[in-house]
Amino acid sequence: MPIEHDDKESREARPPPTPPSIRWGGGGGGGGGGGGIVDLLLPPQCLGCGALVDAPGALCVQCWSTIQFLAPPWCAVCGFPFKLDPGGDAALCGSCLRKRPPFNRARAVMRYDDASRGLVLKFKHADRTDAAPAFGRWLARAGQSLLAEAEWLFRCRCTGCACS
Ligand SMILES: [Zn+2]
Ligand SMILES: [Zn+2]
Repeated sequence: MPIEHDDKESREARPPPTPPSIRWGGGGGGGGGGGGIVDLLLPPQCLGCGALVDAPGALCVQCWSTIQFLAPPWCAVCGFPFKLDPGGDAALCGSCLRKRPPFNRARAVMRYDDASRGLVLKFKHADRTDAAPAFGRWLARAGQSLLAEAEWLFRCRCTGCACS
């Protein structure tokens, strides 16, 4: 007996089907925590150092612990992190107090230093597009307060600022 209640609206509300994953070993049962053939042949590697990790697009513990992800409290304009919470979310850093930058607000995912440089440069200049989902998640977290109001998103290409 055909099911007739599947109207257009309910079809559109469903998430798209996911392709079945290829599992090593055949047998069944599903629910196993192992990876597929691809993971066996090309196991997920740390985006920073190449060490084996549990899932694609992840950092190993060592890389994760050395990268300084930025989070509040930070300057309301440029996103420079404060060591102490100044209270409220409108505080400005010394640089922005002296001279306001030519933008209203900006946020960065991580401090650009020796620990993060390789990760960033591999993503920007070495076709490491496998890092895009991770950078996307990190950027969405760092820019969460701005994204709800954003009309445009740009990648900063300036030189001499904290994000270059
Ligand atoms: Zn690593
Ligand atoms: Zn600032």
